[in-house]
Amino acid sequence: MAPSGSESKARPLILRLDVTGAPMGWIPWQSAVVLESRSMIAWHAGDHFFTFRGGYNRASGARSEATVSSIVAVRGRARHSGSSQATPPLSNRELFRRDAHLCMYCGQECQEHMLTRDHVVPLSLGGRDCWSNVVSACKPCNHAKGARRPEEAGMPLLAVPYVPNRAEYLVLSNRRILVDQMEFLRKRFRKGSRLSSGPGRYVASRRADAV
Ligand SMILES: [Zn+2]
Repeated sequence: MAPSGSESKARPLILRLDVTGAPMGWIPWQSAVVLESRSMIAWHAGDHFFTFRGGYNRASGARSEATVSSIVAVRGRARHSGSSQATPPLSNRELFRRDAHLCMYCGQECQEHMLTRDHVVPLSLGGRDCWSNVVSACKPCNHAKGARRPEEAGMPLLAVPYVPNRAEYLVLSNRRILVDQMEFLRKRFRKGSRLSSGPGRYVASRRADAV
């Protein structure tokens, strides 16, 4: 089956929800079409509809066709761990996006290759490699801080690191989000989320009290 438009490669990902409306993940349009053909889609919640056309039926001569929207609610349990409350996996790409590509010590905006994952409480002092203990740091700041806590290094954090919830993580992990998908996810951000103005526009405006 092929998309009816000419820009199949540019097709945005489809936002997959569970039947309760909780966001679960991104799926390619091909998967959405399969789900639709198996009557696995309970309802559509997106504003954008995409129609995909497949082969011709030998008997009837009719061409198969499937229409899916940009947000689909799927019956049954998701195959992966399932819970929308599960902690999202930690990776540098999403971490740097969470921190808007700013060094959380000097505030400098950096390109990805100039950023590092800094452990606020160093691993050597028992700190963990988890969302709430890591921040983006430029290489010079990471080097200057060394294996010390921020207060020991005299380098206070610009913002407290946090664990993104599922909706926030989905925004962090996809660079091509449609407006309706963004609006859907934004309503599910944590209160006061720094992503509220969209990733990349966060400005470190106040210093953290303590970490
Ligand atoms: Zn820095």
